[in-house]
Amino acid sequence: MTPETTNLLTSPLPNGLATVEQEIARACKEARRDRTSVTLIAVSKTFDAAAISPVIDAGQRVFGENRVQEAKAKWPGLMSDHPGISLHLIGPLQSNKAKEAVALFDAIHSVDRPSICEALAKEINFQKKQPELFVQLNTGEERQKAGVAPGEADAFIASCREKYGLAISGLMCIPPVDEAPAPHFALTAKIAARNGLKNLSMGMSADFAIAIQMGATHIRVGSAIFGHR
Ligand SMILES: *Cc1c(COP(=O)(O)O)cnc(C)c1O
Repeated sequence: MTPETTNLLTSPLPNGLATVEQEIARACKEARRDRTSVTLIAVSKTFDAAAISPVIDAGQRVFGENRVQEAKAKWPGLMSDHPGISLHLIGPLQSNKAKEAVALFDAIHSVDRPSICEALAKEINFQKKQPELFVQLNTGEERQKAGVAPGEADAFIASCREKYGLAISGLMCIPPVDEAPAPHFALTAKIAARNGLKNLSMGMSADFAIAIQMGATHIRVGSAIFGHR
């Protein structure tokens, strides 16, 4: 078989995705973890369908968006052209968007307050659809940032389960930009373990290898795949 014929069988990976996949493989090997234990969420916020299509064609199926309205404008078309896409909401959610969020997303990483729990519980029951839910932690206790303070996490997770009947799958964190991420990942993993949560959404373009080392099951990688925003 000539190389030309071989190339027809699979689309080459776009550069960013190929590099990220190599890094994930290396980090998994170092951590003695199976590659399949880490889900790569390709964060496509601000990028249009023309930029996203080659990444889908290269085989990527899990994508992340941080705004409900933007995702609603972009993804239904892409999803009907490409079956098997899983879409994750990684940005803040407002109660009045819960209906659209439950309808569109397969996972929501930003559960962080009672009003959201209440709105999600209502829509999950009404739509008979069950997105995977992550509680977002504000591990750096930054005033401007969304998420539950570490000291309130156990009680919040308990209320998600008991008061709202929500099935919580894991925890998500975004470390402060000017701090080493490892202690924040470690704290997130510790809080997850003591609450019986097995999924950890942590690690972005700059630090996903460290996150994998510390047990991340979901890494959210944007600019390393798509380029600068
Ligand atoms: C944008 C975003 C990412 C991806 O960030 P990159 O540095 O581009 O990889 C990850 N998580 C959240 C919550 C984001 O908003």
